[in-house]
Amino acid sequence: YTGKTGSQLLTEKVKKLTVQDYQSIPIVVNESSSVYDAICTMFLEDVGTLFVVDKNAYLTGILSRKDLLRASIGKQDLESMPVSIIMTRMPNITVCEKDDLVIEVANKLIEKQIDALPVVKKKDSANHLEVVGRITKTNITKVLVDLSHDQLL
Ligand code: ADP
Repeated sequence: YTGKTGSQLLTEKVKKLTVQDYQSIPIVVNESSSVYDAICTMFLEDVGTLFVVDKNAYLTGILSRKDLLRASIGKQDLESMPVSIIMTRMPNITVCEKDDLVIEVANKLIEKQIDALPVVKKKDSANHLEVVGRITKTNITKVLVDLSHDQLL
């Protein structure tokens, strides 16, 4: 008998969960894509956040629903407006890696008041990041559901 309470055991379990156990597939658009195409991709892929990559598939930006809504207010031509002029850019993107703890991701989402983080892999010494996954508030909510079914990994 360890002398640990149920909630201490639970806390220990939650603190072991990593991003790779809960991440989803990333949906990306190229930085030369139009705002119009990004809106279509967001609907077709049924996601709330798109990651923007350059021709080498390195992360350069991020697009939220409100970024696209904001760009759609007014009379601009969305088909000729590239996403690169409205996206949030590197290095101002909060990222995580597959071995990071889910609880650290949850903390970042709350602190920065954002919905999703790209899961990235460092490519080379030039700080290039490859996008390998996506982790959102929905993935974090699944931790709670698994917890209630005693299905934590
Ligand atoms: P919404 O804008 O639809 O409410 P978010 O709260 O996720 O969605 O995004 C708020 C702002 O933060 C947007 O301008 C978006 O580009 C930016 N953003 C979203 N995710 C990140 C991230 N991981 N790192 C940095 N900025 C982000």
